[in-house]
Amino acid sequence: MKTIITKLSAALAMLSVAQFSHASETPAASPDALLLTQVQIVDVDQQTIRRGAVLVEQGKIAAEYSAPPANFKGQTLDLNNRWLIPGLIDMHVHAFGNRAPHAKSDFAGTEKIAQRVLYAGVTGFVDLFGHEQGLINARQQQRTGTFFGADIYSSLSCLTAPKGHCTEYGLKTRTMSTPEEAIAQVQSLAKAKPDVIKVVYQPSDDQPSIDRATFAAIVQQSNQLGIKTIVHLKTWQEVSDALEVGATAFTHIPGTPIPTGLADKIAKAKMVVIPTMTVHTDLTDFLFDKTVIASELLQAMTTPAIIAGYQSEETMKKWGDREAKWRKQDAQRTANLAALVKAGVIVLAGTDAGNYGTIQGYSVHREILKFTQAGMTNWQALAAATTRSGSFLGIDNTLQTGAQASFVILDASPIEDIQNTQKIHAVIHQGKVVDREQTLKNGF
Ligand SMILES: [Zn+2]
Repeated sequence: MKTIITKLSAALAMLSVAQFSHASETPAASPDALLLTQVQIVDVDQQTIRRGAVLVEQGKIAAEYSAPPANFKGQTLDLNNRWLIPGLIDMHVHAFGNRAPHAKSDFAGTEKIAQRVLYAGVTGFVDLFGHEQGLINARQQQRTGTFFGADIYSSLSCLTAPKGHCTEYGLKTRTMSTPEEAIAQVQSLAKAKPDVIKVVYQPSDDQPSIDRATFAAIVQQSNQLGIKTIVHLKTWQEVSDALEVGATAFTHIPGTPIPTGLADKIAKAKMVVIPTMTVHTDLTDFLFDKTVIASELLQAMTTPAIIAGYQSEETMKKWGDREAKWRKQDAQRTANLAALVKAGVIVLAGTDAGNYGTIQGYSVHREILKFTQAGMTNWQALAAATTRSGSFLGIDNTLQTGAQASFVILDASPIEDIQNTQKIHAVIHQGKVVDREQTLKNGF
């Protein structure tokens, strides 16, 4: 036994020497090689911080060293003991831009927003409904490098009832009233390769909704085609239905108290939750917590008109007396999320950016903060916006060798204070250092 261990450690020692010498003796295996030195690697899955160096090649993590290899000839970035986390992924956006009450919108379109959000460390997002052909084109152009922006994933369309939610925006939607129509629509949409299927199921709502049989048909057809479903819904009854028909995920956290036992059922079924705390609760803070709207990162991510809209007299005249009422509602949603977190449900960060109370790119940082207020540790909240979203989308967004090299470099530790995710020093997207000022300019 001892011999085996000795042999094994000898082999391991040789392996690390081999890795080490590979980088130290060759100038650079690829011309785009990038070495990040003196970095504190915040491994959100392992829940450890390692000091070391990270070698990036061809958009991926090629190696990690405890000490940087000597004589490395490629580009080196000395990070001076700053903190490195995986790139943030927003699991629920409508990436056309921002709206605010009584304000001119800053709509810029998906291509520009994909560039803008890189500034905030958002290296990928899931657009859950917009202009179908526009999203197909933007995704294609981003993937082929026509422009340098955050990774675009999308449901492309929204499956809903005739006159149901999503149809009110005047964009092409895919509507259906029967299981047969549902199956045909899923098959037709699948040809455009949606990354997920977005379904609106809310019989409780005033707007028309698909019925349960149609809902079940969409989910079954999507499952057969290997495409995950994200269900927009409003009530816990609708969550129960989503669970029973086998949906992959639901988005928006209901505002009434969660029924006893449901959190455990969701956890057991491994149904994923994208609660979008931001869209439900951050309007309160935008209006009544002056530090939020004053945040440097928020201010960088939108126009003065949008910011003024949240502070305008008309807005305060309309909602100025709502704080107590809204805070009570917000607390209920936080309690509901806390129940899900406690039960061990997989929760992912999504903001529903594009709506009031959100800012594209910025709001992911708010979502992460709100997760910690619902009982997640800082580690868990970071994972919910990085590695776990990656695994939902089938991409490796961890900090292991072979993972995609999309990172946010922070000036302070997010483990000490989760709001340090906003103290961004640099962003790396698919192995390339982002020119943050330029990408911000391109984004408007
Ligand atoms: Zn949405």
